[in-house]
Amino acid sequence: MVAASRGPSLVVLGRQGSGKGTQAQRVAAAFGLRHLSTGAMLREAVAHRTPLGRRVQRYLVQGRLVPDELMVGVVESAIGARDVVRSGFLLDGFPRTRRQADDLERVLDPARLDAAVLLDVPLDVVRHRLGLRRVCRRCETPTVAQHGEDELVCAVCGGQAVRRDDDTPEAIEARLETHELEAAPLLRWFEDRGLLLRVDAVGSPDEVFERVHAAVAPVLAASSPEPTE
Ligand code: AMP
Repeated sequence: MVAASRGPSLVVLGRQGSGKGTQAQRVAAAFGLRHLSTGAMLREAVAHRTPLGRRVQRYLVQGRLVPDELMVGVVESAIGARDVVRSGFLLDGFPRTRRQADDLERVLDPARLDAAVLLDVPLDVVRHRLGLRRVCRRCETPTVAQHGEDELVCAVCGGQAVRRDDDTPEAIEARLETHELEAAPLLRWFEDRGLLLRVDAVGSPDEVFERVHAAVAPVLAASSPEPTE
């Protein structure tokens, strides 16, 4: 049998509104990786009223974390898809807890994680950004409503960019509070394994991407593809 190669495995971490979605899309495009956003997968499941969608809907609306045992199944099937294994992936939105990091390490076996990129942005900056965030209903690209507009036209696909259901002031605070509780042990988990790449993510998307690219490129250059069969 011809040995297939296994692509790199990356994770992007950071507060809500730190630019994970934007940077993950760009990194994925630059390095030929699949961008896997757990939030987008769950929102799609809710929109299509799948059994998973019906189970997770209330958590999303309230800005609470979906239980770990549901999340691990979602991630395991996403990263196990043959084309994702081959191209490699960039996980956005998972892991969010130490328990999820342990789950990821278990389901990735015998592969390994290459790096976790932390987009570092202070709390007051992300609060401001989340209040102005509008997300395309069709392609999920985020746009900034400079003047607080309710709706914008997505510059990428021409779709309608609106406030996300969980970008209400109450849900924003709930999500940020949960993030602060889980973040320190999660970051330590990656630090202990020598995987954490901290990037200052205050600045324009182009400036931040330059820093992210500079941090990630050497790691990916050093991680040669591994045979899977
Ligand atoms: P996001 O788009 O990453 O902000 O995620 C939106 C919502 O999806 C979160 O507020 C959670 O309700 C749920 N969610 C996404 N990823 C996870 C995860 N790894 N663990 C638990 N819940 C998640």
